[in-house]
Amino acid sequence: MRDSNAFLFGLIADQSVKAETAWSLPYKLAQRLGHFSMQKIAKESSSEEIGTLLRTKPALHRYPGNMGRYLWSAAERLTSEYDGCAENIWSNVTAMEIVERLEAFSGISHKKASLACLLLWRDLGVEISDKENIDIAYDVHIRRIFLRAGFCEKDTLKDVTEAARRLNPKFPGYLTSPFWALGRNICRPTEPLCGQCPIRPFCARRLDKTENLRA
Ligand code: SF4
Repeated sequence: MRDSNAFLFGLIADQSVKAETAWSLPYKLAQRLGHFSMQKIAKESSSEEIGTLLRTKPALHRYPGNMGRYLWSAAERLTSEYDGCAENIWSNVTAMEIVERLEAFSGISHKKASLACLLLWRDLGVEISDKENIDIAYDVHIRRIFLRAGFCEKDTLKDVTEAARRLNPKFPGYLTSPFWALGRNICRPTEPLCGQCPIRPFCARRLDKTENLRA
């Protein structure tokens, strides 16, 4: 399903479940609904009904109640503010505005809004002129590397975001994918593979900094 509304629903669903589960949810929900019209969801369904559809076995999400509320309210906001089409959120506006608009949706944090900007530019070909305003995603794999390497001192959204802006000021969000992959595959929570790590020459290897790091 290649549809801007499906992208928005997948983004909202991408929480506490595998990425494949989240991003296939719009397609499976549309099958259960018999349509994927934002207007119909907003006017003819309720958050409880969406939650029930998500909960029906095999369940489409780990938290169907919350997700039902988030997705129904997204359909409602899309209908009332964006003519029922998520593409109107990101057409002809700056990255800063896209992030601000996305953060207004329930279930979309700054991390997810920043990631969405990157995906819109990288995978969906959306024109974004102010890439300097696309921040790195505040993800646990990325935070682990930044703390261990010494790129930042504290594990806060502000510290990690500012560190990425210093590292790649023209496009901090561009660092999301490579650092996420590095954190997941090499700089693992335990027994990091420092011998295979491409940033080892720049890393302070402060493993003690991430002993209590939580997702
Ligand atoms: S050198 Fe080791 S601690 Fe530093 S980022 Fe690479 S894997 Fe992580």
